[in-house]
Amino acid sequence: MELEDINTVAVLGAGNMGHGIAEVVAMAGYDVNMRDIKGEFVQNGYDQIEWSLGKLAENDQLTEDEAEAALERVTPLVDMEEACGDADVVIEAVPEQMEIKEDVYTELEAVAPDRAIFATNTSSLSITDLAEFTERPEQFCGMHFFNPPVRMDLVEVISGAESGDETLDVIEELAEDIGKSPVRVHKDSPGFIVNRILVPLMNEACWLVSEDEATIAEVDSTTKYDMGLPMGSFELADLTGIDVGYHVLDYMHEVLGEAYEPSPLFVDKVEKEELGKKTGKGFYDYEDGPGADIPTDEQSDLVKARLVASMANEVAKLIGNDVAPPASIDEATKLGAGFPDGPVKMVDQFGLKNALEALEEAYEKTGHERYEPADYLEERAGEGGFYEQTADNGRADFDAIRVEYPGNMVGHIVLDRPHRMNTISGELLEELSTAIDLLSDDDEVRSILITGEGEKAFSAGADVQSMAAGGADPIQAQELSKKGQSTFGKLEACDMPVVAGVDGFCLGGGMEMATCADMRVASERSSFGQPELDLGLLPGWGGTQRLKHIIGEGRAKEIILTAERYEAETMADYGFVNDVVGNDELEDAALDLAADLAGGPPIAQKFTKRAMLAGRDDTDAGLEYEASAFGHLMATDDLMEGMTAFMGDGEPNFEGK
Ligand code: NAD
Repeated sequence: MELEDINTVAVLGAGNMGHGIAEVVAMAGYDVNMRDIKGEFVQNGYDQIEWSLGKLAENDQLTEDEAEAALERVTPLVDMEEACGDADVVIEAVPEQMEIKEDVYTELEAVAPDRAIFATNTSSLSITDLAEFTERPEQFCGMHFFNPPVRMDLVEVISGAESGDETLDVIEELAEDIGKSPVRVHKDSPGFIVNRILVPLMNEACWLVSEDEATIAEVDSTTKYDMGLPMGSFELADLTGIDVGYHVLDYMHEVLGEAYEPSPLFVDKVEKEELGKKTGKGFYDYEDGPGADIPTDEQSDLVKARLVASMANEVAKLIGNDVAPPASIDEATKLGAGFPDGPVKMVDQFGLKNALEALEEAYEKTGHERYEPADYLEERAGEGGFYEQTADNGRADFDAIRVEYPGNMVGHIVLDRPHRMNTISGELLEELSTAIDLLSDDDEVRSILITGEGEKAFSAGADVQSMAAGGADPIQAQELSKKGQSTFGKLEACDMPVVAGVDGFCLGGGMEMATCADMRVASERSSFGQPELDLGLLPGWGGTQRLKHIIGEGRAKEIILTAERYEAETMADYGFVNDVVGNDELEDAALDLAADLAGGPPIAQKFTKRAMLAGRDDTDAGLEYEASAFGHLMATDDLMEGMTAFMGDGEPNFEGK
């Protein structure tokens, strides 16, 4: 079967996942038959799709017409034959119990056409075992969405022992066609990629506490503020449900052995039914206590070494057993778990020798199998890392951005952190600076184009989390402000014309970056703003000084002081956006403009830019003031207030302290 042959997709189960999957598939233009065992269940799923599409339309992520058309493509059904009799692909999302799934596949096999591919959304069961309930194991694979499917881009496409390449290819294409980012999992191994990284990490966090090596506060302080993960280990478990992780771990324990033995603390929480936020209490108390109140300053080297070492061991087992290569593991975990960096990159940076040492030490101390180093870890420790250590071939190696050469003398910088809305981290700033040098030194390049990867954002601003990890240190904050100012200043002062192609959010630091381009083209759906004051901050990367040169001080004050969002059309009226184009035309329009400018006279362009910049009033004094004000604000209560409200989606209450 080819992608073009897929018209009708049946989704079995209209629960949490089923309705979400049906929604995204319908949004991409497929006819969807959504089936559940009772009319009320399927209707409930349908109502949730209607609600969710309404929300997307309200937030301008879809037009009203598109939302209506998507809903019309979903048919709620109870009869299996009606739902699947003419389906090209069937995605199964019924409860995670072997017996239920067995019944469902037996019933399905009797009514589905021979051509149909079956894909299961199981989180933990064996794809190979499930395929055996059917008569088409080669037309069967895993298609593991993340919750909620509407927002989460990752889909793990998993091969069972007998899945055919054609089946895997077409399911991967289908995932791409519905706007998701598929990652191939080559072997049917418990937890696939993301859960295989997250769940043993969670278990290790529990073991550290069970064995009195650390407190919950130390573990979470370390995961969040030292390792830079989006949440503390215990905070995350409470949010997702302790029983959910336990269920996956239990299965790993059964299949993979004692290295996955659940720690006493984990077992205790499940037995007491303290399952996290949903029950009011888990590792933290959400009813009578303050919830996950994680100290910024209780980081522990031992905790970090143990957690990273455990992760290195899991990574080694995944790569060594050919489940997935390093880049797939990193991509999946960034998309599926919001890791700022992939686990393979993290353990490579920590040093495999250090990880190995930590495992050996712990193994000696406890004798527990979980610390037994994987063979492949020992092998790669000798090579220096899991990623091949390629010799420097003169091309800079970037992670947070990409540099491409689309022709016509354009150097294209892509902000490449789509899993985090292309937010700007310290690493991104450094790489941007290197890329500007690289392109400036390149005789073949005569203009720079900057865009953001993905459809959601050019850049949604500074990576608030990586900045909060630095703590409330005014000196560090001031340095960070200066670093952003100077990197963007370098872009502004670059001798070549610079074009920003904006699609999606262009906020905060992202807008300050776009301000330093010479021209800006934006798609209709883009939205702009300097929301810093809502956080009790101010635009600290040049925003208080540079924006006014483009749109005048009056409008600059309006945008910064109101902290409102502005549509592309309005920003064009204000003179910030040079051209607004259709959403699908942005990429070509921005590239055309960059190519056009690259065709201009380089020396005249250079002198024009330099003259205009030199003629501005004394910006340096303003920048100096801005940086010290930024440092001052970092130590205020209002910043904490604004940050907390921002993370929790609430309204801040500033006290001017
Ligand atoms: P859920 O309990 O919310 O939904 C399951 C639905 O299936 C229910 O509405 C139930 O009535 C229905 N059902 C039961 N028997 C059926 C049958 N014979 N035919 C059709 N429908 C039937 O569960 P969920 O959270 O949506 O999980 C579904 C699957 O997705 C499981 O395999 C789970 O492991 C997997 N998954 C869940 C998540 C998550 O975060 N919830 C994430 C990824 C994958």
